[in-house]
Amino acid sequence: MEVYFLGSGNAFCPDGRLHSLVLIDNKMLVDAPPTIIPQLKRANISPSEINTMLITHWHGDHIFGFPFFILERKYISDRDASNILNVHLHKGGSERLENISELAFPKTLTIDMSSRVKFCEEGSGQVAGCPEWQYERFEVEHVPETEPHGYQLQHNSGLTILHCGDSGPCREIEDRASGADVVIIEVGVPDGVPTEMHYKPSSISELANKNPGTTFLATHLFTAANEKIPNLPGNVIQVTDGDKFTLNGDGSVGKMA
Ligand SMILES: [Zn+2]
Ligand SMILES: [Zn+2]
Repeated sequence: MEVYFLGSGNAFCPDGRLHSLVLIDNKMLVDAPPTIIPQLKRANISPSEINTMLITHWHGDHIFGFPFFILERKYISDRDASNILNVHLHKGGSERLENISELAFPKTLTIDMSSRVKFCEEGSGQVAGCPEWQYERFEVEHVPETEPHGYQLQHNSGLTILHCGDSGPCREIEDRASGADVVIIEVGVPDGVPTEMHYKPSSISELANKNPGTTFLATHLFTAANEKIPNLPGNVIQVTDGDKFTLNGDGSVGKMA
């Protein structure tokens, strides 16, 4: 199964990086950043091929691309609404996404959204549109008003991916990391920035050292695309836009491109 990074930057799109966006198993996207459409098109992926979207929280760099995504499917790649988009999100989230869609393109997207989008606000279960996957959504540490969450994803084969969302160190992530084959983690700021709401090089190092059997894919980075944070543990891979990984049956991770 593949994990494909269509973007790897934080909210500021540091030199050479687009907003963090990851495609899992060719059909499941985590979040909808503002430039989601060019990110998919550059990768030769049609928006209509996406079955499922998992939303982590309400910061603009994670959701403001939602109206563009729906607009593209409606007028270009899925005119007859043949592939419903399943969106997993926290309670009350469907109203938020309808509101930003109406704000972005009035009287255009919301009139027939129910025939194109299925919102799922349950906290756990089968991933809608990806029946080989089960999910659990869990709370993480970030700006509380954004209702921040991560996702634990388990494939039928037993492989487990943890997507931490945008978060600082917290109990849920600490407890779940050891059971995951791969942890996708957002390392938003450098050490020295006075916030507990993002992982930093020092806190991801600590987490990775505690879980040597787990591979950490670090994204949502503050560094330039060709720049690496020095001295991270060997089980942390700093990704860049366009990086694609395979997750093998034994839990090992290989880089494809
Ligand atoms: Zn962010
Ligand atoms: Zn955020």
